[in-house]
Amino acid sequence: MESVIDIHVHIQPWEEMRPEARAKIGKGPAEQAALAALMHRPDEILARMDRAGVERIAMINYVAPDLMGFTAAVNEFAAGIARHAPDRLIPFGGVHPRHVADPGGEVERLRELGIRGLKVHPPHQEFAANAYLFELPGLGRVYEKAQALGMPVMVHTGTSVFPGARNRFADPMPCDDVAVDFPDLTLILAHAGRPLYMESCFFLARRHPNVYLDVSGIPPKRLLQYLPRLPEIADKVLWGTDWPSPGVDDLGANLQDFLALGLPLEVQRQVLRGNACRIFGWPP
Ligand SMILES: [Zn+2]
Repeated sequence: MESVIDIHVHIQPWEEMRPEARAKIGKGPAEQAALAALMHRPDEILARMDRAGVERIAMINYVAPDLMGFTAAVNEFAAGIARHAPDRLIPFGGVHPRHVADPGGEVERLRELGIRGLKVHPPHQEFAANAYLFELPGLGRVYEKAQALGMPVMVHTGTSVFPGARNRFADPMPCDDVAVDFPDLTLILAHAGRPLYMESCFFLARRHPNVYLDVSGIPPKRLLQYLPRLPEIADKVLWGTDWPSPGVDDLGANLQDFLALGLPLEVQRQVLRGNACRIFGWPP
């Protein structure tokens, strides 16, 4: 198997994270401290990737000051870490349209900073993915500018158990509006809606040419229970682990579990690498 691209890894400035949120990650105080330090050590991150056979990771960050503690400074953080290995560390950042005066201008600023994609997290940012149709027009400016600049937008889909998360925003179907209104925007539905909305995500990926799913956060051993028709949309599915989120212990172990499913080689290639290369314009 050639080198793998993990589209969903949380390299984040843990010092910004609220204590209640950090407690939810678990893993015990010693490992917590080690992980918090690791977030600032690109060489160690790269060494872990090498051990797991991972060529590139997308480092997922977003702005959610109220619920998680993450401010707009996460963008400088992610761009800064990526500068150590721009070919391998792909920074995703975020714009919270309620916390910035000019959301479209902020997307431009992030692109100039080196941010390659955006993350929208409805249950943690407390708005629906289609809130631009209602009370949050600034969110439309974010999608519009991301579309114009060719920046993929990843949207968290499915429930969250972090303290304070609003799971009325967990349903992926509002992303149907985004795909209709911004047809040239690449949308990645993170977690494929797990654990409640996989069928909706499967529908959206089949309906819209630029909508993809990532399988992060789904236990790989049970992937085909969650997405039994995955091979039918193999050109729309992206590998991701969500490491080091609650319940995800290792980049490499997840990968071995996925390979052990015995999916056709061509499906494995598309999911683990080919689809991400197509989205980002990397050589296959
Ligand atoms: Zn995540």
